[in-house]
Amino acid sequence: MNINKADKKLIKKINTVSILKVIREKGPISRADISKIIGLNPATVSSNVSDLLNQKIIEEVGSGESSGGRKPILLELNTNEIFVIGVDMGIRKVTAGLINIDGKVINKVTLHFKMETDRKQVIKTMKNSIYEVVKGFDDKLDKIIGIGMGIHGPVDSEKGVSIYAPAFNWSNVNIANIFEDEFKVPVIIDNDCRAMALGEKWFGKAKTSKNFVLLNIGTGIGAGIYLNGDLYRGSNFGAGEIGHVSITHNKIKCQCGKYGCFEAVASGVGIVRRFVEKIEEGKKTSILNKMSIKDITSEKIYEEALQGDKLSIQILNETGRYIGDGLSIIINILNPEMILMAGGVARASEFIFGEIKETIEKKSINNNLKSLYIGETDLKENAGIVGAATLIIRDIFTV
Ligand SMILES: [Zn+2]
Repeated sequence: MNINKADKKLIKKINTVSILKVIREKGPISRADISKIIGLNPATVSSNVSDLLNQKIIEEVGSGESSGGRKPILLELNTNEIFVIGVDMGIRKVTAGLINIDGKVINKVTLHFKMETDRKQVIKTMKNSIYEVVKGFDDKLDKIIGIGMGIHGPVDSEKGVSIYAPAFNWSNVNIANIFEDEFKVPVIIDNDCRAMALGEKWFGKAKTSKNFVLLNIGTGIGAGIYLNGDLYRGSNFGAGEIGHVSITHNKIKCQCGKYGCFEAVASGVGIVRRFVEKIEEGKKTSILNKMSIKDITSEKIYEEALQGDKLSIQILNETGRYIGDGLSIIINILNPEMILMAGGVARASEFIFGEIKETIEKKSINNNLKSLYIGETDLKENAGIVGAATLIIRDIFTV
C-alpha cells in the first residue's frame, strides 16, 4: 500500500488530535498511558507530544506514580498559551469574554445597546466589547486564536451569516467577515442557544450526555438541541425555535408577529407584561411602593417575590407552568436525557421549578420522564460567552 504525502499529513493530524483529546479529558497523564488509551505505538505518541510541547499547546507538569522504573512525566493542556474571545450577543446587551483553552473566564465585559439602535451601532458596540475585554491583557493578545459568537435567530455558521436577527431587524449580515476584517483572526458564529449547548457539552453539566436540550429564557426564549452526539441545526438553521410554539389562546402578540407564543408569556418581557396587566386590573403589590410601573423588570419581580409579595410569587408560579407547557413539548418529541435551563428567568428557581415539575408530570409521556434530569446550567451567567468560545476551541480538537 502506498501512502502519499497528503495522507501522511492527515494521519499525523488525526494522531495529534486524538492525543490532544486524551490529554484534555484525562490529563495530567503520561505518554505511556496515552499510548495505552488510543492504541498508538509509544514512539508515535512521543513524536507527536514533542510537536505539541514545541507549539506550547501542552506542558509537562511534574511526575506521576511509577510502576517500577522511572517516574513518568505527566502532560496537561497549557492553559496560558491559547485564548479565545467568546461573544454573547443578547437582545439588549452584548457580553465579551476572554477565555482560556479550558473554558475558564479570564475577563468579561458587558455593554448595552442603545434603544432603537441601528445595525452600525450594534456592530460598533460589539467591536467595543471585544476591545474592552482585552484591555490590560497585552501579554495575551498574540495568543488569541479566534472569536466565537452566539447570536439570536437563525445563523448559517458555515458561511458566517446571521440570516435574521429579529431584535436588530437585519437579515443576511456576514458577521464573520466583518469581524475577521477588524480583528484579523478566524471568527465562527452560531445561534446563541446552540453555542450555549455546545459550551455545556464541553465544559458544563452535559459532558457525558448524547441527547440534551438547553433552554434559554431571558429577554426571549430559544433552545439549543444536541442529538445523537451533535448539535442539531435543522434544514434552514431554524431548529430550536421553541419560543414561538403557541401555548396559550390568550391574544398576546409576540415580536415574531404571531399570537400566543411561549416567548410572549414566559420570557422576561412576557413576565413583566403579565405582571403589569394584573396591576392595571387593580391587584395590589408592594413593588409599587418602590418604583413606578415603567421601571418594573423581571429581576425586580423576583426580588419582590423573595420579600413575600403575593402578586410577584403568583406571576412567577404561573411562569413555571408556562415553562412546563413548553418543556413537555420538547420532552414528548425529543425524549432528551437532560434539560438545562439558562438565562435570567432560570435563576428564580424557587418560584418556578416546582410548577415546572408538576406541569411536565401532567403533560409528558411517562416513559420520557424516566431518568430525565432538569436543572440549571453549570456555566450559569457565563454559559453564553463560554459557549461562543467553544465554537473556536472545538476546532483545535477536530481534524
Ligand atoms: Zn413568537
